[in-house]
Amino acid sequence: MTAEPPVNPVSRFFAVFRYSALAMRIVRDTSLPLTLLMAAATIANGVLPASIAFVGGLFVDAVAGAIAAEDAQALAAARSDALFYVLVEAGLVVLMTGAQRITTVSRSILQVLLGNRVNVMIIEKAMTLELSHFEDAEYYDKLLRARREASSRPLGLVIKTFDLIRDLIALLTIGAWLFQFSPWVVVLLVFTGLPAFVAEAGFSGEAFRIMRRRSPERRLQFYLEMVLTREDGVKEVKLLQLGKLFLQRYVNIFRNIYREDRNLVLRRNFWGYLLGLLSSAAFYFAYGWVGFSAIAGAITIGQMTAYIAQFRLGQNSVSSSLTAVNGMYEDNLYLSTLTEYLEHEVPEPTGDETGGPDPGDGVRFENVSFTYPGAGAPALDNISLHIRPGESLAIVGENGSGKTTLIKLLARLYTPSRGRITLEGLELSRWDIDALRRKIGVIFQDFARYQLLVGENIGIGDVEELDNEPQVREAAGKGMADAFIRNLPDDYRTQLGTWFKDGKELSGGQWQKIALSRAFMRTRADVLILDEPTAAIDARAEAEIFAHFGKLTARRISIIISHRFSTVRMAKHIIVLEQGRIQEQGSHESLLHSSGQYAKLFELQARGYQ
Ligand code: ADP
Repeated sequence: MTAEPPVNPVSRFFAVFRYSALAMRIVRDTSLPLTLLMAAATIANGVLPASIAFVGGLFVDAVAGAIAAEDAQALAAARSDALFYVLVEAGLVVLMTGAQRITTVSRSILQVLLGNRVNVMIIEKAMTLELSHFEDAEYYDKLLRARREASSRPLGLVIKTFDLIRDLIALLTIGAWLFQFSPWVVVLLVFTGLPAFVAEAGFSGEAFRIMRRRSPERRLQFYLEMVLTREDGVKEVKLLQLGKLFLQRYVNIFRNIYREDRNLVLRRNFWGYLLGLLSSAAFYFAYGWVGFSAIAGAITIGQMTAYIAQFRLGQNSVSSSLTAVNGMYEDNLYLSTLTEYLEHEVPEPTGDETGGPDPGDGVRFENVSFTYPGAGAPALDNISLHIRPGESLAIVGENGSGKTTLIKLLARLYTPSRGRITLEGLELSRWDIDALRRKIGVIFQDFARYQLLVGENIGIGDVEELDNEPQVREAAGKGMADAFIRNLPDDYRTQLGTWFKDGKELSGGQWQKIALSRAFMRTRADVLILDEPTAAIDARAEAEIFAHFGKLTARRISIIISHRFSTVRMAKHIIVLEQGRIQEQGSHESLLHSSGQYAKLFELQARGYQ
């Protein structure tokens, strides 16, 4: 399925329907019975109005016959005819209102079901993707947009497609009746109605292309809007007085967009008006034609009434189909985003092994290099490491030297560009991803602050033990969070964050203690990693927490990233990273002894603390 519409005018016209089939498939998979019901109601809504008009004509003829009746017998016959037609027409009207009601009901129910289904599709897909996708602006934009209108757009497109089908059926039915009057009338109406329809489809396609082209601008607008209106941005926006600047940028984007939009609206309506005049002229020409035929006695007065009613219906169908086409580009836009998002390829299928051949082998990095997508220089360059169970590793290095990247590769959030990483002697890509993640516990410096209960915030470190309160309390003790949690209004059941009622906000250091306690929940993981989630905790508490961490990981592998040498020196093995390479490695003592970068930094910090 191509996103850009084809250039050929006929294909361009049909491009308006390019996502209808997909939308229809989603709706059908959501509820087949409701979809069928809607289809049946659509057919009824298409056929019935013209049939009602036709019966109305027969009624008028019966009445005229009764007025003109010359004897009692003819009068009685005409009367019973009139009565019959009244009943038939009333019956058809009952059917039609029933069909309309069915349409409304099935639309409302489908809308709810569909919103849920599309959202679930989006979330399930998100769960299969790698971290790098989320850092890709274009992909992220697609995800945001796909989510924002999930409940309305697919159904909107289906409704409009159904409406168009209904209008088409109505026009065909009307055409069949009018054909009996004169084939030329049908030809006339089709040829004068078509230009408006084709033009509308063309403008709709143009609007679609404009909107797609603009997605970077809209992304920037969305971002500015978010910074200006969200809790986490507001603090700096106020203090640095960024409001005016950002608002001005926002308005400038609007101005650029506005001109193009205004031109399209003007052209669209100018042509809509002109071409609408053409079809109205044809309509009144045919109207007069029918009238004169009645005067000439070629058709009865009832037939004339019926034809005129059909003309009006035909006009309504033409204009309602124009409205449907008009709104379709937005729905198409949405579905194009949705399909692109859902068809996003997951690069590496994960393996299915749940254990390695050599459980005592621990973690190995063999000549691992990694370059972020789009980055010039590698973030990690030819790293080789071996950590056995029971060993602890500390990683030291300046900001941007590749410490976090190394951890992300080990957690399989990214795949190495070169070289391989093994756990238990099995390459990470061959591990079943769930089994692998169970073996590894990581707390990053930008750990998540869940707006959940305090106890849950810690318990999610091991979802299977979420409700195991003694374990949660023990973990909180080791993470040094227990003391302040006891002072919270509802103890371990206190709601955190500001999204929900009575939610308590914690200080940066308290949040870090929560995150660390989370790591202590992961008693079953073989590799435990702390990526500097301690910057806001004082040095003494950090050392104490790491001491707990060391005990906990006696038979496991522990990896820590920290800028504090009081912590780093506890690790058995230390590596110093610089620009993605291992510059030095060894124990604290041997590194001090060799008087390299490590020794220099240690000196610097030791002096600072005196
Ligand atoms: P550290 O943890 O040592 O501070 P990182 O591993 O986070 O450093 O970063 C290493 C390098 O990779 C830096 O040059 C940084 O700019 C780059 N980098 C980090 N994250 C990303 C990312 N998501 N996309 C592109 N480049 C990144």
